[in-house]
Amino acid sequence: MRSSPEVAINSFQLAVLLDDTEKLFYNFVIDHLVFCAHCRALAKDGVEVTEICLTTMNDIWIKGRCRVCHHEVVRLFTFGSNELFYARASQLRKTINLKLKKA
Ligand SMILES: [Zn+2]
Repeated sequence: MRSSPEVAINSFQLAVLLDDTEKLFYNFVIDHLVFCAHCRALAKDGVEVTEICLTTMNDIWIKGRCRVCHHEVVRLFTFGSNELFYARASQLRKTINLKLKKA
């Protein structure tokens, strides 16, 4: 597969990208399974997401802040290995590129 550039997306675009199961998984991880290097533990109150990015492999990484200590955290979601997700991500890229051309 040809690799595409990394692109920032917003939470609305992410919502379109994820199916119901992926949404549940994503929300569960955000609330319970992001490691905070400052707390040296999983962020027990979850994280505040500040940046979402679609990687060159059509995975998703997020940057955010631990809700306990506000230290920056990052987490990768390897959704890109799912063909259906990959296809939706490629479709989203096309709409983003169209908007860029119009702007
Ligand atoms: Zn923390």
